[in-house]
Amino acid sequence: MIRGIKGVKDILPEEAARWQTIEGAARRLSHLYGYQEIRVPVFEVTELFARSIGANTDIVEKEMYTFPDRDGKSLTLRPEATAGVVRAYIEHALGSSPTAQKFYYLGPMFRHERPQAGRLRQFHQFGVEAFGSDSPRVDVEVIALLWSFLSDLGLPDLTLEINSLGDAADRPAYKAVLLDFLKHREEKLCENCRRRMGTNPLRVLDCKTPSCKAATEDAPRLTEHLSPSSRQHFQEVLSGLETLGIPYMLNPRLVRGLDYYTLTAFEVTSRHLGAQNAVGAGGRYDGLVEALGGPTTPAIGFAVGLERVALMLPATAVVPPPKLVYVAAFGAKGMPIGTRILHELRMLGVCADTDYRASTLKGHLRQADRLGATFVVIIGDDEAAKGQLLIRNMHTKKQEELPLSTTARNLASRLKTS
Ligand code: ATP
Ligand code: MG
Repeated sequence: MIRGIKGVKDILPEEAARWQTIEGAARRLSHLYGYQEIRVPVFEVTELFARSIGANTDIVEKEMYTFPDRDGKSLTLRPEATAGVVRAYIEHALGSSPTAQKFYYLGPMFRHERPQAGRLRQFHQFGVEAFGSDSPRVDVEVIALLWSFLSDLGLPDLTLEINSLGDAADRPAYKAVLLDFLKHREEKLCENCRRRMGTNPLRVLDCKTPSCKAATEDAPRLTEHLSPSSRQHFQEVLSGLETLGIPYMLNPRLVRGLDYYTLTAFEVTSRHLGAQNAVGAGGRYDGLVEALGGPTTPAIGFAVGLERVALMLPATAVVPPPKLVYVAAFGAKGMPIGTRILHELRMLGVCADTDYRASTLKGHLRQADRLGATFVVIIGDDEAAKGQLLIRNMHTKKQEELPLSTTARNLASRLKTS
């Protein structure tokens, strides 16, 4: 037997209702906020990710699925979607559209990580990207969309953490101050962080190793080194969140390691998730479009991990399946009538099903019960001979006789109201 790949899961029909609920909420909220769907490929040239995510990140250093294609070109399965969306934005000159450039996406991402609960090698994200405005009101909108998505689904114990990384001009001065601080604690840092000091010292603040966390507890804060305009931008984001009643926690250690990331950075976590507690994260990347060869374009987005959302989704949030009518047709005369009724019900938008293997009423009723049918339409040879059919309410077990000439429309409306 050939098995699936480690860390790559099948989503079986029994889980489908959860996923449809989650994806339905993502689409509904995106449309409510004026975001349009964009679908970008699951693989791109490797250079796109290396340049946009950055060489000194976990993703690019050790998590990408990279392979040469048959022409020798290096390709990579997307570890996230922002890079592809930005590429498409530039390639199709989407910025020249006079209307807002706000997009959302849903789909699989690929990272070679150690599989565990909430951490897979193929996982799914819902994300949005808003291009073209550096207004703090956009930051507020993007965060509000993420927050409504998660709260709409009834996810428990959510915390929104937020920070400002300053703009490109604020960063070098802060880096020098931080580096000076880190040099005095170098021996307490993990090997990875010591290396990061040379490549991207901001990432040291992001390290999950307890000793590194402790050593950088009182590190100088980026928010204390913001220019007046960056500081004002951050203040406006925070007061916008307050206006909307979205609770937040300042987290001066929250960083996104790259130079393209600017100003607002945020993450939503939940205590329910254990070690992998991040549900979604995002931030401004005002420098990325330009860095990838496009026009100077401010932008901001987020990505949510849907497996983690699914893990936390309360059963009460799952949208129940629509009412099902089961057609129990048997006997040489009953079956063709059943086939017609089944078809007509479906054409009227009623979920209708049968089990083609069942040949007795008893067998049909058992299957109807298993499928959770609300009603059963019974049509056997006896009913056909009498010119009748029966409707059985599976809840009350009451049966009603109807003439065979009853149109499916009549039947459908009875089924809906009774
Ligand atoms: P983590 O700290 O958990 O590694 P990350 O910083 O790598 O997260 P992002 O790149 O910001 O995560 O991706 C956004 C969201 O995607 C995460 O908050 C998480 O919910 C989800 N996610 C990231 N990697 C995985 C994975 N390997 N399996 C499942 N979900 C993931
Ligand atoms: Mg990660």
